[in-house]
Amino acid sequence: MGKSIYEETGKMPALFMGHGSPMNAIEDNQYTRTWEKLAQDIPTPKAILIVSAHWETQRKTQIYAGTKPKMIYDMYGFPKNLYEVQYPASGNPALANDISKEVTNFDIAPTHEWGLDHGAWSVLVKMFPKADIPCFQLSLNTTRDLQYHYDLAKELKFLRSQGVLILGSGNIVHNLRYIRSFWDAAPEWALSFDQQVADFINNRDHEQLIKYQKLGKAAEISVNSAEHYIPLLYILALQEKDDPITYSNESLNGTLLDVSMRCVRVG
Ligand code: ZN
Repeated sequence: MGKSIYEETGKMPALFMGHGSPMNAIEDNQYTRTWEKLAQDIPTPKAILIVSAHWETQRKTQIYAGTKPKMIYDMYGFPKNLYEVQYPASGNPALANDISKEVTNFDIAPTHEWGLDHGAWSVLVKMFPKADIPCFQLSLNTTRDLQYHYDLAKELKFLRSQGVLILGSGNIVHNLRYIRSFWDAAPEWALSFDQQVADFINNRDHEQLIKYQKLGKAAEISVNSAEHYIPLLYILALQEKDDPITYSNESLNGTLLDVSMRCVRVG
């Protein structure tokens, strides 16, 4: 495993990161140590394109095309030092503009009005702590359906052979409205949906994952408002015939919140 797929085919793996709590950015725990390892196991990317749950746009799909992505502290009620985290990576305007031109079936509008939200920087700060690789985000167009996201992502495949890491950041199970007591076991709907998703991924049955709404109650509660689930579809859409799948952080996190921390590596 490791670097072999890249060395054989020249294609950069793609990663879906279960990001969980923003506190992971400043904590050292089993999840963040796995993130560090995931980054070490792949070739050094030339640039990183991030599809985060936390950049939603209406009507248009946007791509950050500025030179210096600003820090966006889009979370509330956390300790002060979380709002002091810096990730001083540069952007990559040339590549962002290329993407908006290369992707012909979908409109991707370059913008300077974004930066790095916590879905992006909370994992980047652990994975690539030197912040010396250009980073830029692609938004989630919330006015479109899941098939749109999957199809758009397919057109990003060319980036893999250019050494660009495409990184989806979300959570397969994400429902913050469901609160349980810390002595309760993880709920059945969360465990079963997380496993069901892995089964469909293993069978390369992406169709079922795009149409998750047909999967019943567990899927409905787990996916909830969908923005944390959609980045997974971007990463799966990049899978080619010869790309293996590997998982890490296969567990539910949280005593009060039920979030699947599962990460998925394609290639
Ligand atoms: Zn999140």
